[in-house]
Amino acid sequence: MMKKVYLDYAATSPVDPAVFQAMKPYFLKFFGNASEPHSWGVEAKKAVEKARSQVAELLNAKAEEIIFTSCATEAINLAHKGLIEALKLSGFKARPHIITTLIEHKAVLEACHHLKQLKLAKITYLSVDKYGLVDLKDIKKAIRPETVLISIMLVNNEVGTIEPLEKIGLMLKTVNALRKKQKLQKIYFHTDATQAIQYLDCNVDKLGVDLLSLTGHKFYAPKGIGALFIRQNTLLTRQQDGGGQENNLRSGTENVPYIVALGKACQLVKENKRKEGKRIAGLKNRLITQVLKIPQVKLTGHPDKRVPHIASFVVLGVEGEAMLLYLNDQGVAVSSGSACTSGELKPSHVLLAMGIKPEIAHGSLRFSLGKDTSKDDIDYLIKIFPPIVKKLRQMAPKL
Ligand code: PLP
Repeated sequence: MMKKVYLDYAATSPVDPAVFQAMKPYFLKFFGNASEPHSWGVEAKKAVEKARSQVAELLNAKAEEIIFTSCATEAINLAHKGLIEALKLSGFKARPHIITTLIEHKAVLEACHHLKQLKLAKITYLSVDKYGLVDLKDIKKAIRPETVLISIMLVNNEVGTIEPLEKIGLMLKTVNALRKKQKLQKIYFHTDATQAIQYLDCNVDKLGVDLLSLTGHKFYAPKGIGALFIRQNTLLTRQQDGGGQENNLRSGTENVPYIVALGKACQLVKENKRKEGKRIAGLKNRLITQVLKIPQVKLTGHPDKRVPHIASFVVLGVEGEAMLLYLNDQGVAVSSGSACTSGELKPSHVLLAMGIKPEIAHGSLRFSLGKDTSKDDIDYLIKIFPPIVKKLRQMAPKL
């Protein structure tokens, strides 16, 4: 039988058996509606509140500052659109201004685009350096009197670069203190922490953020559950009207089993983060060292300021999609940075923003590791990958 190696954990992860065990009773036995006052409802409500505390603990937040959503995309949309709407309702007169980066996930970029199109906000998209790092000075320079939100991801999902959130948070504290004296609107700080939760310290006070989005399926909870941290006194208007669940910020009957799963997954991350991060980083470094031995291959993202689980490259003269398919034929799952839109392969917006030429960006490949990745898996990849690159280069038309 062919060996199967999954190296696409940044796309999604399997549900942890302990998470699955924790959520199971809430399908079958404790299936009550968390809003009902009878014992079924009370059991469900208890489970939801326990999970809320588990998520809050991982983020060093208060339980009442967490609301459950269906995914990070929903949390991100609520954070951006909800803040702008709330400001409008509170009488903010100018057109609000948002600062973000060119390398955000589409969830942030499209939420901003939506606000811009409806003339509800102006957007500044900051560029990044060749490693994918945003510059603190650029952020400072972009701030205007009507700036209300800075939205910067903690970790980039394609290249794994860690952004200097703590520094931005500190800078913003000083800026906001001054703006208070000037009677200017506070600037809120949102981060998409989707790729950071598993391995980095996501203490919201250390990061200095007011809003933080996450999704469970990147760290062994099922797909379809996420959360948004909302610091107390942050203005936000719900995007979904209805029964008033989740502190009236996200109506709809709570998805109790999935919420329980997210809580359990957060507890497991808290317990295992340090040890697992070290192990994964060791394997990732082994992978990087060996892959870089292939001629004309470059690491993308920052050499040190990167998460333990993401190793990304551009391979000159080869299409990322072709490598992906050849690796798949040999049982290995990876991701290429290109997005297929209407049948046409577009190079990654992240790599382009990092100054990588489109023809080179087409050769991008991302390996992402997780809890079931072993040294054996990495060694298998290292054995099969160089011949694939060689073969594809031989097949490529000579210019
Ligand atoms: N943000 C980042 C950085 C991501 O990597 C992803 C998923 O790939 C998302 C947001 C969106 O997550 P979801 O599809 O679960 O909403």
